[in-house]
Amino acid sequence: ATRRIQRHTVVLERRLESSHTEVSKLRNHLEQVRRDAMTDALTNLANRKAFDEKLDTICADHDEHGGTVSLAIIDIDMFKRFNDTWGHQTGDQVLRYVASAISRIAQMPRVAARYGGEEFAIVFPGETASQVEHVLETLRSDIASRALRRRSTNDDLGVVTISAGVAHRHKNESPLQLMERADAALYVSKRAGRNRISSAQNILSETAA
Ligand code: GH3
Ligand code: MG
Ligand code: MG
Repeated sequence: ATRRIQRHTVVLERRLESSHTEVSKLRNHLEQVRRDAMTDALTNLANRKAFDEKLDTICADHDEHGGTVSLAIIDIDMFKRFNDTWGHQTGDQVLRYVASAISRIAQMPRVAARYGGEEFAIVFPGETASQVEHVLETLRSDIASRALRRRSTNDDLGVVTISAGVAHRHKNESPLQLMERADAALYVSKRAGRNRISSAQNILSETAA
């Protein structure tokens, strides 16, 4: 009887071990799926869903603990024309190039995302308005100072530029309102001729003037 119980125990142990392996495989798979659901496949930046969640958390933290939060929306200039001239695939490579320039400046605790087609967003927690605007200005001028070349054909693609709008959050302002102010500032950059950064504060003072 003892031997039978021992044999049975061994069988049970093996089964337990194999379900442990199965559970850990499933857990890894689930983590991968979760990461994919939060990531933009073309650029590897966070996607809009992930960004909206992070922005909500950062805003809630700002309401509770104070400090500063700024939000920038960045848009590639005349990108439709670029696609029409050089093709969608080359356009995709430019999206990757701009995304990598953005991810280089968006180290923690900053958060960057591809927000839509050729639009990106960055949230800056805990930095002054002038620090944020300086970082954005550096990003803009770095991108604007580089002539792009298509590797496969050696074609000179010219310069791609970005415009951005930035808004500095008022306490208790909703994430949606903050996005709307940054978007309005982006629109000011576009109207003023593109390849520039506008701040929502400047818009307010412009309107007041
Ligand atoms: P503006 O300076 O006013 O922003 O002009 P624009 O041409 O960049 O803006 P518009 O909104 O007219 O066009 C955006 C273009 O972005 C159109 C679309 O073909 C391109 N686009 C959006 N998503 C992708 C993408 O995933 N890949 C490529 N290659 N192009 C994209
Ligand atoms: Mg756009
Ligand atoms: Mg555009």
